[in-house]
Amino acid sequence: MSEKKIKKIAVLTSGGDAPGMNAAIRAVVRTCAYHNVAVLGVYRGYQGMIEEDFIELNARSVRDTINKGGTFLKSARSKDFRTKEGRQKAYENLKKHNVDALVVIGGDGSFTGALLFNEEHNFPVMGIPGTIDNDIYGTSHTLGYDTALNTAVEAIDKIRDTASSHNRMFFIEVMGRDAGFIALNTGIGGGAERILIPEEDTPIEELLQDIEEGHAKGKTSNIIVVAEGDKTGKNIFELKEYVEKKHPEYDIRVAILGHMQRGGAPSCYDRVLASRMGVKAVETLLEGKSNYMVGINNDVIDLTPLEKAIKGGSKLDMELVRVAEIMSI
Ligand code: ATP
Repeated sequence: MSEKKIKKIAVLTSGGDAPGMNAAIRAVVRTCAYHNVAVLGVYRGYQGMIEEDFIELNARSVRDTINKGGTFLKSARSKDFRTKEGRQKAYENLKKHNVDALVVIGGDGSFTGALLFNEEHNFPVMGIPGTIDNDIYGTSHTLGYDTALNTAVEAIDKIRDTASSHNRMFFIEVMGRDAGFIALNTGIGGGAERILIPEEDTPIEELLQDIEEGHAKGKTSNIIVVAEGDKTGKNIFELKEYVEKKHPEYDIRVAILGHMQRGGAPSCYDRVLASRMGVKAVETLLEGKSNYMVGINNDVIDLTPLEKAIKGGSKLDMELVRVAEIMSI
């Protein structure tokens, strides 16, 4: 608990960018304005804190941002902030600008940095989960996840048009090194025949068998959605080659959706979520609390201790795996 009255709050975006980060910055700035608290924007995440790369923000400076992807404050990965000296320098810079508390919009790495910063300098911090991967404990949705799902499913729809026109099979890679949230949901939403996720060990022979069975059932085109971190032990091009070798008669193509999944205007869901989270983050700091992440669960905005958010590990709903299986009959 912090006893001191908070008069100025700094806000930064850190780690991978995600749609909705701008809307969250805007929400933090406007909630501060509402409560007569000043705001300092920090460019380039923790690196900007160390290099004193700041901008004073007010309610008007965040106009026309709610609808924009990316983050106008820029994001970065900072090696220097991983050192005690780097964090000391960052602290001195915040003090120099009379900042009393910090809102960090980012993923679990950014939260780990925020916790260390709090421990070493007794500085109030609050986290807002901003990452398209949705792999953070304590919230059913991270900022940017819903937008990324919609972007990916739109791309899959387009690929399906060409797949069915030519009786082709497509392996489509979506983001998710450690978590299959995007793959599983876009796979169901995009009508995939098979979905490969990091949480499930799928032997490659099983995949082949499924494809063969699908063919025997009269499926003329096939969409197979693959998360980056799938456990077949092969990358997506090797998967294609493997299936092609066994079945030279199949016409197989690969599409990697890549960074397009991170970009674009945030969905309405992400804009509203960002606004709600920004309000809660600032008002929680003003109540004198620190070291929490704002999350949403069952459509209620709540708080999870940062430590738990980092270590908790998010879990896929395995019922969704069953739904996917049933849908691909
Ligand atoms: P994403 O999920 O998009 O990767 P992230 O927040 O997990 O987002 P990271 O690159 O892991 O992304 O972390 C962002 C920044 O947070 C790092 O560049 C670093 O400055 C800081 N950070 C991460 N881990 C630590 C740590 N153990 N100690 C201090 N700072 C850290």
